[in-house]
Amino acid sequence: MQSRSAGDAPFISIVVPVFNEQASVDALVPRLFGLLEREGLAGEVICIDDGSKDATWDRLVALTVNFPALTLVSLSRNFGKEIAIAAGLDIADGNAVVLMDGDLQHPPEVIPAFVARWREGYDIVYGVRKNRDQDGTMRRSFTRAFYRVFNAVSHTPITPDAGDFRLMDRKVVEAIRKMRERSRFMKGIYSWVGFKSVAVEFDVVERAGGKSSFSAWRLFGLAFDGLLSFSTVPLRIAMFVGAFVAFAALALGGFYLIRTLLFGVDVPGYASLIVSILALSGFTMLQLGVMGLYLGRIYDEVKARPLYLVREIAGKAVRDTENSSVSRIKDRLSNLV
Ligand code: UDP
Ligand code: MG
Repeated sequence: MQSRSAGDAPFISIVVPVFNEQASVDALVPRLFGLLEREGLAGEVICIDDGSKDATWDRLVALTVNFPALTLVSLSRNFGKEIAIAAGLDIADGNAVVLMDGDLQHPPEVIPAFVARWREGYDIVYGVRKNRDQDGTMRRSFTRAFYRVFNAVSHTPITPDAGDFRLMDRKVVEAIRKMRERSRFMKGIYSWVGFKSVAVEFDVVERAGGKSSFSAWRLFGLAFDGLLSFSTVPLRIAMFVGAFVAFAALALGGFYLIRTLLFGVDVPGYASLIVSILALSGFTMLQLGVMGLYLGRIYDEVKARPLYLVREIAGKAVRDTENSSVSRIKDRLSNLV
């Protein structure tokens, strides 16, 4: 593996999705710029406001006065973290892009370690959480079970405990930008694109303030979504069980036929009739349901709506556009019309 030459000065984009994070943005932004400066790294910070209902946006806008390399994008409503990340990747200019949460649960002090591994030549440097103490026992065991099931049924294995806190080389970012699917199971997407990856351990810390937007129910929905996006095994299971039930019904039919021919009808076969009708119709409905799940997703994708809509941009990106030397922002945020 070839290490990246120290000669070309890298430019690092730090992309942070924020949703109702008024309690942490005032601490987050100065900490990120302080870190870039201390490490002698040129870079920018991009905050994607995912339709916050609190003072997040106003506080961020106030920060642009002191931090000229801060770009702000406000989405027209809450699109969800995965789509906010997509918007951030669309606008990020860096040779390397760091993704992190806006609640300071991902300690920025790990970023230099990410950059060091990237300079060694790795394309993806992902953070692996050392502890899950922040999560309850329920969430922990659910997470573990999910990883096991997912990796058993999907061709795209995902790494347990690796999340969105990561650094990606430009070429990885370009690859992910090409993936415009609406249901965005990021762990699957990271793994699907491939590239040379390496892990860096970190400790998850308490939220700086506010509360998590991911309830148990929402996490369950995400897990289910992820499975459907990256596996067609449920369809195949449905087909195999269907084939098995049909074959069993045929064999039973043959058995009854021969028995009737040999010994005549003894008892009217209500029981077997009812049981098989119930089993078959129950299974047919189940199979229709599974197909419906995939069909619904196909419907969502073929509508081909924009992934997100932008309400407003502020900070560095706007100045770049005004200079018109970098007018790419309008192309990049192609959905901004
Ligand atoms: N987030 C977002 N949109 C959402 C929910 C969350 O942009 O709809 C952001 C949130 O502001 C934070 C990150 O995603 O920066 C992780 O969210 P959270 O801390 O709620 O999740 P947890 O750490 O509990 O997994
Ligand atoms: Mg968090």
